[in-house]
Amino acid sequence: MAPEEHKVSDQNTGQHRQKFALWYHPIYTEGIHPDARFPRDRYELLLERLKESNTHALMNINTPKPIAKDRLLLAHAVDYVERFLSDGLTVKEQKRIGLTPWTPDMILRTLCLMGGALEATEHAVETGGFSGNMAGGTHHAHHDFGSGYCVFNDLAVSALHAVQNLGVKRVAILDLDVHQGDGTATILADEERVRTVSVHCSTNFPFRKSMSDHDFPLPAQSEDALYLETVNEALDRCMEFNPELLLYQAGVDALGADALGKMNVSRNGMRRRNQRVFEAVQRQGVPMVIFMGGGYAKPIESTLDAFHDLFADAAMWAQSKPTQTML
Ligand SMILES: [Zn+2]
Repeated sequence: MAPEEHKVSDQNTGQHRQKFALWYHPIYTEGIHPDARFPRDRYELLLERLKESNTHALMNINTPKPIAKDRLLLAHAVDYVERFLSDGLTVKEQKRIGLTPWTPDMILRTLCLMGGALEATEHAVETGGFSGNMAGGTHHAHHDFGSGYCVFNDLAVSALHAVQNLGVKRVAILDLDVHQGDGTATILADEERVRTVSVHCSTNFPFRKSMSDHDFPLPAQSEDALYLETVNEALDRCMEFNPELLLYQAGVDALGADALGKMNVSRNGMRRRNQRVFEAVQRQGVPMVIFMGGGYAKPIESTLDAFHDLFADAAMWAQSKPTQTML
């Protein structure tokens, strides 16, 4: 893609400003069986919402290619990867992932979702700005098994790709989904170039927690003030690491309307949370990739509102500094 496609001109200053690059594929929805309990419509409904938004002109929506198998092996066992790719997972393994009834379309969906994460990561590193994938944040996927709607771990694969192949020295992963980033923590436990930080509800899934570099368990019903104070502490632990890349798992299941979250944070509280992250990375000049994460309101509208806010606000923030080096 030509660099010009990522820029818009500021009519007042004449400066080129960076468009917010997002990755999306219709298979994010269509690759999940319609009878699955997972709210698969969230992806296509979010895209419609963003298209209606006045921030849509600030976004550049890209189509991901399926990830290459060797990239998956950065974080996952070869046996697990090969059995998934050949549709050879056991029923027990599929049930642990939970996106059942299983469908062979899950294979291409998963590869595109992982490809979107990797392309967004490469873009953020190349441009020094913000990017995002309109899916994923698959933090419950472990080295050799999937769990909790997650097949492969896009955060771990992206972080390891960045440090091993993109010349990034330090990556921070900030996981603000209401569920702990257990797979991410376990896969990256011995990786000193990556710092894992998780804020989550102590009494929510996964019930056996892993150990991140920094964990911030919160009680149920924490609400805005305690939640935001804790986010500030978690963000400090990330930025103290002087990361050259921040991967932000921006799940919105801490919302009061969420059916699974238990945290009772307001829509405005979620926006303030995101803005604190955007402000911190911009102040320190750190490229950032946004991973969508969880959100399970019933009906789904409150979740969509919060995801709309996330990506629309990110697009606005991505405009607030001049474009850095473009490759
Ligand atoms: Zn979650």
